Amino acid sequence: MRLFFSYARHWREKRRMGEDLERLKRRIPLLEYLQRHNWTARRVGAQPEFVGRCPLHRETRPSFYVNARKNLFYCHGCGRGGDLIRFVELFLALPFSQSVAYLQQELAPPPVSELLEQTAAFYQLQLHRHPEAVRYLTQRGLRDPALIDELSIGYASGGNLRRHLTALGYSFDLLLQIGLINSQGRDSFCRRVIFPCRQYGQILNLYGRSIGTAFPHRLLPHSKGGLFAWESVGQSSTVILVEGLFDLALLWQAGFRNTTCAIGTHLTVTQLAQLCDRPGRRVYIVFDQDENQAGQRASGDLAGRLASAGATARIVQLPLGHDPNSYFVAGGTAADFTTCLQQAKCL
Ligand SMILES: [Zn+2]
Repeated sequence: MRLFFSYARHWREKRRMGEDLERLKRRIPLLEYLQRHNWTARRVGAQPEFVGRCPLHRETRPSFYVNARKNLFYCHGCGRGGDLIRFVELFLALPFSQSVAYLQQELAPPPVSELLEQTAAFYQLQLHRHPEAVRYLTQRGLRDPALIDELSIGYASGGNLRRHLTALGYSFDLLLQIGLINSQGRDSFCRRVIFPCRQYGQILNLYGRSIGTAFPHRLLPHSKGGLFAWESVGQSSTVILVEGLFDLALLWQAGFRNTTCAIGTHLTVTQLAQLCDRPGRRVYIVFDQDENQAGQRASGDLAGRLASAGATARIVQLPLGHDPNSYFVAGGTAADFTTCLQQAKCL
């Protein structure tokens, strides 16, 4: 009997370890890791496959292949291949367990992600204590309390984050270094509605939308991460891509849960690779219809990049001067928006 229990525990632990490793590999895509360490590559074929010179042996002609979807590499020169952990083992000549530990350190160190978690929770509590913030959400057409909760939307009223976090044991210097406060100790996100940007459950950044006269958009001064909510949206073969998180919130509210957001019109390499991680995916680009044509130009550029990376891109046109958020606020319905999608132009 005891033997049985210890077997069962052993098996459970093994499974948990396997899950942890899978999560680690998802959080650091192999291609992204290599590129961060200055590996240059070109795309080959229709698959999300890249080839470049092998970092593991000296060579003049590229024979090191990376499949971005499978998250695997193989070198035809030295015959070695595997996943991210295998690569680190070979590249840094570390045993397996140390390679895993090294990769865990490559991620945002735990205190920082915990700190962002605490910050987001604090701001989320503040939201309902400040009528001006709730009023702002209503003004932007965001009314569904369950969705506001699901997106963990918060509000930085200003001036009291530092007290809260230092009481929890975080140093002034760390808060300053992360960019949560300024040198006077005031919230950097003062008078902003806050959206935590998560990736695989971990907060990577915070986006703050000013409700006053300050510059509208603000992120913490580090990577904006991948596409918003890609864990769920990435399952779809048809994806709607918008510029801003309010656009996303309003589309989710209207039932278009396959909407993601790049926070801006410029996509990072990771975000572009995500859009193309499934063959034949159709991407509807719904950027702002700016008077100065900036959004329209950005849509055209992106559609070109997507097409050459193997995805099908469609550019959705809303009435001039509108973005998806203002379109719904002005009375557009889910049916109207569906018509806009159906009328979307090919490149
Ligand atoms: Zn090689």
